[in-house]
Amino acid sequence: MNFNLPTAFKTNRRVFMLQSALTTAAVVAAASAQAQAMLSETDAQATGLGYRADSTKVDNAKFPKHAAEQHCGNCALFQGAAGAASGGCAIFAGKQVSSKGWCSAYNKKSS
Ligand code: SF4
Repeated sequence: MNFNLPTAFKTNRRVFMLQSALTTAAVVAAASAQAQAMLSETDAQATGLGYRADSTKVDNAKFPKHAAEQHCGNCALFQGAAGAASGGCAIFAGKQVSSKGWCSAYNKKSS
């Protein structure tokens, strides 16, 4: 069976299919970004690593390697965009950490 569709129709159909695929991919990406909850300081793993959402609140007596200039935003394990308020972390999979946060797994990002 040969339908002999007009070329314009075939092109429009191809464009529609491509746009549909791109829209679906964008929706999925946005949904997965929103699905990541912020890491709680009381999360068991966060507690174990001394995570604080505000690096200035870190107990320096308990974590002497902590320095004032250290925060998630300049940690090599931070997965958020530069300048973002929060982002993923390689240590805390599926959670967002504050870019102003800190934990004892901090590893300075090379510049
Ligand atoms: Fe922040 Fe780095 Fe600790 Fe992740 S590993 S919580 S980015 S300091």
